[in-house]
Amino acid sequence: AKKQRLDKVLSNVGYGSRAEIKRDCKRGLVVVNKAVVTNPGVQVDTDNDEILFDGERVEYREFIYLMLNKPDGYISATFDKFDPIVLDLIDPSYLVFEPFPVGRLDKDTEGLLVLTNDGKLSHRVLSPKNHVPKTYYAKIEGVVTEEDVAAFEDGVTFLDDGYKTMPAQLKILKSDEESEIELTIHEGKFHQVKRMFESVGKKVVYLKRISMGNLKLDENLALGEYRELTDEEVMLIE
Ligand code: URA
Repeated sequence: AKKQRLDKVLSNVGYGSRAEIKRDCKRGLVVVNKAVVTNPGVQVDTDNDEILFDGERVEYREFIYLMLNKPDGYISATFDKFDPIVLDLIDPSYLVFEPFPVGRLDKDTEGLLVLTNDGKLSHRVLSPKNHVPKTYYAKIEGVVTEEDVAAFEDGVTFLDDGYKTMPAQLKILKSDEESEIELTIHEGKFHQVKRMFESVGKKVVYLKRISMGNLKLDENLALGEYRELTDEEVMLIE
């Protein structure tokens, strides 16, 4: 396996800055394969070496994958001047891995948001070539009809820029003055779901993402709660 500097490994998994780790090594807090290591620059093999920090086994990993049930009012970004961001909901013990959201939900959209530091996975999931499906639950002002279902299957044209959407699957859960639907799309244009309904003269009044690829939002997560994905779930995203 790949060898890396001990201080880099420890700082990557949240044991402090390089300077702090250097000090901790000098103090004898770091043990590799049963021997105290005072030199923070030694090369270690994270697959095979046993590393202890202050007696505690260091679990090394490169990537983390979190599923967040995003609440209304949070921006899907790693920085914002004015508004709270989704990372504000995440514990510092995860933030040391520098996760970022895989794609964006609007500030007022709720539901499934995956956060990871795996740039390659994020890239594959978001690539327009891969058409990873995303399913949303929405409440719509106005009566959603079978004509809308057919129109979405054909593709609708955005009113503002004339873009024609790819075929999307609309399921009517409740057709009324306020309708309830599920919509699966295979692309990710800005405000896509809201603009598709605008195209047919209707307004999205509540929007929640319920799945991405074959990964479903864990309904046990309350708004603002998150958990790690299992290895199997990570594979369901793409
Ligand atoms: N479509 C939207 O309009 N908003 C979202 O947040 C996601 C999809």
